[in-house]
Amino acid sequence: MSGHPTRTGWFRGPLAECDPAPPRPDRVFRLILLGPPGVGKGTQAELLADRLRACHLSTGDLFRAAKCQADPSPAMSAALDAMRRGELVSDELVMALVRERKRCLRCHGGFLLDGVPRTIGQAEALDELLNELQVSLDAVLSYELPLEEIVDRIGGRRTCGQCKAVYHVTARPPRRAGVCDQCQGQLVQREDDHPHAVRVRMEAYQRATQPLIDFYSRRNELVSIRADGSPDEILGQTLNSLESRLNHV
Ligand code: AMP
Repeated sequence: MSGHPTRTGWFRGPLAECDPAPPRPDRVFRLILLGPPGVGKGTQAELLADRLRACHLSTGDLFRAAKCQADPSPAMSAALDAMRRGELVSDELVMALVRERKRCLRCHGGFLLDGVPRTIGQAEALDELLNELQVSLDAVLSYELPLEEIVDRIGGRRTCGQCKAVYHVTARPPRRAGVCDQCQGQLVQREDDHPHAVRVRMEAYQRATQPLIDFYSRRNELVSIRADGSPDEILGQTLNSLESRLNHV
């Protein structure tokens, strides 16, 4: 999207400068985004980045970009090796990578942290790092939907076998059933989008994330948002919830 900060410091690490420097918004937001797959968190992150002029700092994007990088840092090389072996990236490595990018957390433009923390260990380490940097969070936005609605959303997703365009059987159907509007390729359901696979993934996600929701809720930092409606409606709800939280702390 035009006018978005470059996020060079996030992608390239501590020695890289963002050029141009991120904008100085009138009000700086420092937020964490939580939400299960299929809830539309990535779309909200983009819309919020646009609206709040804050950088979208996603660990998933960071790892995907690092796969194409010629000279990754030792921590990044170790994280990519773990991913290649099909293992989870450890809390220590994830937080070492975030620590390498602490300048992004201190940035005058604020941030929307997405994909981290994923565990209580990461949440505690992030808390320590933010304290050390004397940076305080404004809120933790938690996008929520009942499991059955998520299964329905992801289960209806169809992907073009050729150009990878994504459709939905009811919410965003192609002009001709089963055929991509853009390249006429055949639309298929990805194996991990089958309802059973989605349920398994969601249950694992909930097991891992519920403790995080409890962690931030106890600290009175959690803002829950029902991720129902169009992206613009959910954005409106996010901004309203955020405003009412900020007016009451
Ligand atoms: P995402 O796009 O957030 O789903 O992240 C893509 C992949 O990157 C995940 O499946 C993990 O392998 C890895 N990853 C991203 N963030 C983290 C994290 N905080 N902790 C561990 N692994 C992560």
